[in-house]
Order: sequence, then C-alpha cells, then structure tokens
Amino acid sequence: MRSDLPEVDAFTRPYWDAAAEGRLLLRRCRAEGCGAAHHYPREFCPYCWSEEVGWVPAAGRATLYTWSVVHRNDLPPFGERVPYVAAVVDLVEGPRMMTEVTDCAESELRIGMPLVVHFRRQGQGQGQGQDEGEGEGVGGRIAIPVFRPA
Ligand SMILES: [Zn+2]
Repeated sequence: MRSDLPEVDAFTRPYWDAAAEGRLLLRRCRAEGCGAAHHYPREFCPYCWSEEVGWVPAAGRATLYTWSVVHRNDLPPFGERVPYVAAVVDLVEGPRMMTEVTDCAESELRIGMPLVVHFRRQGQGQGQGQDEGEGEGVGGRIAIPVFRPA
C-alpha cells in the first residue's frame, strides 16, 4: 500500500486532472464580500460557509512558511525518498499549503524564500505494462504539486 497517492473522487477530480496537465487549481469563494481562496479543496468556503465556490487557476507561486527535513518515514514509498523537505508554503493567493520543497539544499532553505510550483508524477512512471494493480489506476498519471526555488 502506498501512502503518497491521494484519493481522487468526483469532487477533487478537476484538481487532479489539472495537476496532471501541470496546472495548480485553488478553490475561490464567489460570495459577495468574501472572495477568499482556500486550499485543500473543500466544497464549502471555510471562511463564510458559502457553497458558491469554484475552481480557479493559481499562479503557482508561493513563499516558504516553514519546513521540516524528514530523514525517516516508514510509509512506502517515502522510505526510499528520504531525506526530503516537508514544507508549508503560502501561496500568493493566500492559502497555506502542505507540500514538499525539491531541488534545494537544506542549508539554502529560508523562511519567505520565493518558490514556484512544479509537478511530480507519482506512481510507476511512464512505462507500460507496469500496472501496480491497485486502486482505480490513477497511480500511473497522478501528479503531485511540489515547489522549488523560484
Ligand atoms: Zn467565502
């Protein structure tokens, strides 16, 4: 069992479909006087509880809020990926997002440093005939938003 693949359902499918195309989506409230963007995706605005919330493209830019270098994680497949930088970033649109920072040495990490999103393909990669035979087969094409220095 893998712990890095999200559950994809009818509600979050637009988000994952966009991610697979290299686009980060946010949910933005359309209620008058609110207009707040949020993440992770929820069906209701977490600020005013309006249901008038829709998908909008995010700029894909963020600043580093905090991070933790993970040296040990026994949940597959993280064990073969350590060490990695688990991070919380502030998207320019406002929402705070849990993610990972890649392509950056530990000593170079700074609070507030500008980051830009990229997408890491999860699952077994591009090879055919390597179906892992689990879930709904999303593992082969799901892409996870992670960030690197801008
Ligand atoms: Zn709202």
